[in-house]
Amino acid sequence: MEATEAGQAKSREEAIIALREVYKSYHTPAGPFLALRNIHLSILPGEFVAIMGKSGAGKSTLVNVLTGIDQADSGELIINGSPIHTFNEDQRSRWRGRNLGVVFQFFQLLPSLNLIENITMAMDLTNTFPAHEQKQRALQLLEQVGIVEHALKPPSKISGGQQQRVAIARALAADPPILVADEPTGNLDTKTRDGILDIFSRLAESGKTILVVTHDKEIAARAGRTLYLKDGKFIGGTAT
Ligand code: ADP
Repeated sequence: MEATEAGQAKSREEAIIALREVYKSYHTPAGPFLALRNIHLSILPGEFVAIMGKSGAGKSTLVNVLTGIDQADSGELIINGSPIHTFNEDQRSRWRGRNLGVVFQFFQLLPSLNLIENITMAMDLTNTFPAHEQKQRALQLLEQVGIVEHALKPPSKISGGQQQRVAIARALAADPPILVADEPTGNLDTKTRDGILDIFSRLAESGKTILVVTHDKEIAARAGRTLYLKDGKFIGGTAT
């Protein structure tokens, strides 16, 4: 028993994502609604973790608090060494740009920019790479996700699966250690989805921490670990 507790304590210390006693409620006309209830979560660097749960389980709320888009009511969130529960909105936003890449279901690429520009813009926003290095780095990232031959096209000239590859390259622009993806394959056919999952697996192998929120059981099967949320709690209590 002691060994297990020590092991858990050690893994919490090494965790790149560590949430403890996190609560989040929303104001509703009927009074406060508790969307996250006492969430504990530890994820180690290089893990590929899937979070599943029915609609309304609290998945988006969890993503929003751990990416710093929204603030938890209480609890501790230590992410890549930063206590983001102590940060104000400005600090969270600056921190997010350098520490987390976010991939959305609907890609959210800018239609008037070509693929390279979509990525270099993310570098500009986070001030991470000097101007003279940006284009070369964008090309490397497009190469990494297998789409460099389309680099000069606008997003409208490539398929949905290809757009999601670009969105992943953009999320990697500032070289963050963590990638968070919200239903990244929700709009893609099976074969295209498998290509995206291969990219996530490779990124995890190269040391990135991947957290994917999904309804898709296939993603869960490919992830190293799957956690299930229900009514704002992890089934089984903790996720350490
Ligand atoms: P999921 O992503 O798993 O579908 P959400 O995190 O979106 O779940 O929502 C969790 C619960 O919180 C749901 O019951 C939802 O209705 C409620 N909720 C989410 N956002 C708000 C909000 N802005 N105001 C009130 N209730 C909300």
